[in-house]
Amino acid sequence: MTRLPTVISLDVGGTLIEPWPSVGVVYADAAHAAGLPELDPEMLNRQFFAAWRTVRKLPGGFDYSRGAWADLVRRTFAEALPADLADVVFESIWHRFTRPEVWRVFPEVRDTLETLKSRGFRLTVLSNWDERLIPLLKELRLDTFFEDIVVSSAVGFHKPNPVVFQVAQKRWGIDSGKILHVGDSEAEDFLGPTEAGWQALLVDRSGTDSPDSIPDLGHILRLRG
Ligand SMILES: [Mg+2]
Repeated sequence: MTRLPTVISLDVGGTLIEPWPSVGVVYADAAHAAGLPELDPEMLNRQFFAAWRTVRKLPGGFDYSRGAWADLVRRTFAEALPADLADVVFESIWHRFTRPEVWRVFPEVRDTLETLKSRGFRLTVLSNWDERLIPLLKELRLDTFFEDIVVSSAVGFHKPNPVVFQVAQKRWGIDSGKILHVGDSEAEDFLGPTEAGWQALLVDRSGTDSPDSIPDLGHILRLRG
């Protein structure tokens, strides 16, 4: 950090909230409700993250559309999901992730946002997500902390594409150097914003504390210019 920012821009998934109790549990529940036998949530977790890594390397990357999510769901279940149930299971999963019960707000988040706001920082969201994000943040009672919520699918570009940072910066009407972006993906939340001339901090919940990363959001409160 070189100087105190005016705007603090936050990523959402892995930064403010995480799937709860896990992606695998939600997928297994949805499949079971659709008539499939019980599947091991841990196996589904592993397969989800493997599929996630795969789809992000496809030409064009992951575009956060319903079609892209449906493809990811199919890849996660692989042969465990019969073709005639794929749509039903996908719709169920899509809907379940609109619900606040399947998300956990990291414990330090509300206090940290409250304190940052009381210190006069302008708080915003910049997230790779889809049309479910703003209603979800409302359900979780997180939306009121933010003066603006930029959702990549509405912009048409996703972090780390430079366009999404340009669009956000224009909306916020601020010089690039006065924005600090904080998130958990090195490519999307550190390299992308740094390229755009923003300041950036990586949330690394595995516990690393370095000049460029913090172990949880609460460490933002230590910022000094
Ligand atoms: Mg994230």
